[in-house]
Amino acid sequence: MSSVIDGKAVAAAVLEECRAETAELKAKGITPGLAVVLVGDDPASHVYVSSKVKTCGELGLHSRKIVLPAATTQEELLAVVRELNADPAIHGILVQSPPPKHINEEEVVRALDPRKDVDGFHPENVAKLALEDPTGFVPCTPAGCMRLLAAAGVKTAGAEAVVIGRSMIVGKPMALLLMAKGSDATVTVAHSRSKDLPGICRRADIIVAAVGRPEMVKADWVKEGAVVIDVGINRVDDPSSKKGYRLVGDVAYDEVAPKCSAITPVPGGVGPMTIALLIKNTLQAARQLG
Ligand code: NAD
Repeated sequence: MSSVIDGKAVAAAVLEECRAETAELKAKGITPGLAVVLVGDDPASHVYVSSKVKTCGELGLHSRKIVLPAATTQEELLAVVRELNADPAIHGILVQSPPPKHINEEEVVRALDPRKDVDGFHPENVAKLALEDPTGFVPCTPAGCMRLLAAAGVKTAGAEAVVIGRSMIVGKPMALLLMAKGSDATVTVAHSRSKDLPGICRRADIIVAAVGRPEMVKADWVKEGAVVIDVGINRVDDPSSKKGYRLVGDVAYDEVAPKCSAITPVPGGVGPMTIALLIKNTLQAARQLG
């Protein structure tokens, strides 16, 4: 019998912690501020950005939403980043991904003041994660996965963990977090060139799937009693739904769930955690910058 890890509830608890921390910072004369920069008119990105700004408002953070036209040049975007780096009311800066194709995202990330890089993508923060330096910012989605494991009471020490996917946003930082001191898992990172992925997964006590392929992880890939964290968000056609599509994860939930001791659903699992950890990182930035 599996237990479903309720990401909405865990995220709500993290946001309540954030509400209290925000009040403490404000009592010291610091109003934490987050700037979210969006280039172009991708509808999904607009939804994400609006919900980040709304959450800031609900918790008492200051926020700035900067929407730039799709034709914004690299230099214009870098100028906005530099202006936000210098703005003392802003502690966290996030440039919503993906930007239009003509934008060099890596150069934009490197232009961020690493002390305000609340996504944790700047090379200085990547290094701090590898060094286990707690002054760095941990990317929000893998940090959220770690909180879900903790909330579900999953013991990571000595566990065999398999992370599927090696992106800088999810897979790689997830592997570092699982192997870090205090987590102490034995970690395997699988990716598109891995051989016998089902066999690798069958060894796992903990599987974290971050691939972007709908329902790829099947029941016979999963050991009885394993814990499964599904990061994937995939749209699949569904004529029976109003929108014409539905969201599924990277895990074939219906067949996998009965084998797991715990599993995250999609939606309602990892998704809600990302924004909660973004706010958490912004508060960390505000505390560190003072
Ligand atoms: P990405 O495309 O950058 O990386 C995908 C990774 O999967 C790559 O490392 C690749 O090697 C691996 N891969 C691809 N095909 C594979 C295969 N057949 N077998 C094994 N590995 C394979 O994606 P990402 O940014 O890491 O995101 C992964 C998924 O997580 C996407 O569905 C994305 O939408 C979702 N996501 C969700 C959140 C959230 O808040 N819940 C946040 C970020 C990403």
